[in-house]
Amino acid sequence: MLTGLLAADPTRFVEVAGRRLSHPDLLAAATAVADDLVDHSRVALLATPTLETVVAVTGALLAGVEVVPVPPDSGAAELRHMLADSAPEAWLGESPHETGDEQSLPRVRVDVAARADVQLDPVDDEATAFVMYTSGTTGLPKGVLQSRRAVMAGLDALVDAWAWTADDVLAHGLPLFHVHGLILGTLGPLRVGGSLVHTGRGTPEAYAAAARAGATLFFAVPTIWSRVADSPDDAKALRDARLLVSGSAALPVPVFDRLAELTGHEVAERYGMSESLITVATRADGVRQAGWVGVPVAGVEVRLRDDSGAEVPRDGESVGRLEVRGATLFSGYLNRPDATAETWTDDGWFVTGDVAVMAPDGRIRIVGRESVDLIKSAGYRIGAAEIESTLLGHPAVAEVAVVGAPDADLGQRVVAYVVAGGSATPDEALARELVDHVGAELSLHKRPREVRFVDDLPRNEMGKVQKQRLLDD
Ligand code: ATP
Ligand code: MG
Repeated sequence: MLTGLLAADPTRFVEVAGRRLSHPDLLAAATAVADDLVDHSRVALLATPTLETVVAVTGALLAGVEVVPVPPDSGAAELRHMLADSAPEAWLGESPHETGDEQSLPRVRVDVAARADVQLDPVDDEATAFVMYTSGTTGLPKGVLQSRRAVMAGLDALVDAWAWTADDVLAHGLPLFHVHGLILGTLGPLRVGGSLVHTGRGTPEAYAAAARAGATLFFAVPTIWSRVADSPDDAKALRDARLLVSGSAALPVPVFDRLAELTGHEVAERYGMSESLITVATRADGVRQAGWVGVPVAGVEVRLRDDSGAEVPRDGESVGRLEVRGATLFSGYLNRPDATAETWTDDGWFVTGDVAVMAPDGRIRIVGRESVDLIKSAGYRIGAAEIESTLLGHPAVAEVAVVGAPDADLGQRVVAYVVAGGSATPDEALARELVDHVGAELSLHKRPREVRFVDDLPRNEMGKVQKQRLLDD
């Protein structure tokens, strides 16, 4: 499937944290893994950022065995949840160090230096490739069943959108247990026959080093891009890149602007979910605009609907619930027929839970999650992202999360959690200044009613702010 091109070109490679395998050597090592997996149907994989993880995933795909990618830093309770829910037969490669039931699972060895040249049986495209757990931003992580067909369709759509070729060298330092780092960032280069440099760590220095070594395409989450933007010398090393891509959370407008200045590239933002893979992307040859995530990818349709179910006008302003359908969609949540049914409309669209606006030319701007980023205050529907970007434009603001706190009078009131930056003093005067700043840049009703200074924001490993936790506290 994804591996058809692996034997082709010995000059193409996969490198993780400085260790490298040519494509034919990767194929040989993965074939050895596949050979050992023949009698399995589902395995758990401790998805460390290592060459072993790439060999393991490729081997499982060759064998047609389902992979449950497990975050290496999972806590004991998270691990128990994933293992009890997905019931894998074995660990593929390393097992976690926690003691407990998981230790009793057998292990299948992964050796990057192994070689095998055996004939493997073809695998049905409808079979599940991954049971991938969602980030758990809004609740307990759900196991998303991703078919091989959906994975291929999702990658082919990005190959098209980004004019991705075998000559590209992709660089990133993302975790390897979510769609971004694992499917796009690892299987993408294999699908297209191109090379991968996983930098091990997602630091500006590591991205700069990859750029100097000839990487052409860069993936990162906004937290990484923000650090690159704060590191001008490293950012400038990306000038010769072909394309910079951002996703997994909203890229703040000031970060987009600063990167454009330093690198000469406007970042291509894209939007997706574990359930849908990437459904909307800024094309390499398309319009790039800060705050906008592009157009529906090939094979995917998008619609925006209001509370009554009517489609909202494509006027660049009207906010609607984002629904998607097409080739990249998942086959259901594992063991959760209730949740699976809830997320599909009667006429077959997947309800993302995100809200968005669409421009007349079909480009989409994500407003955020309906549950936490769409603030309903005094009859207004206010997107948190716009206020966050405005606040980030103020020099005293290092990080910010805007939420709608329950309010007896307004329904919800706009509250900004702010991490003060540099030498700014987080006091009453600064709070007033920030409120005035928003009032001057945006409509008055978007001004925060309250500014709460915090030392840091609760984030997960992808840099997503866990707003529900702010609201719960
Ligand atoms: P859970 O479903 O467990 O609560 P999660 O939704 O964070 O967690 P993922 O599937 O990893 O898990 O993330 C998908 C979500 O990430 C989308 O629904 C959207 O809210 C957000 N997202 C992804 N890309 C972007 C983007 N470019 N801009 C804004 N939000 C984005
Ligand atoms: Mg989700």
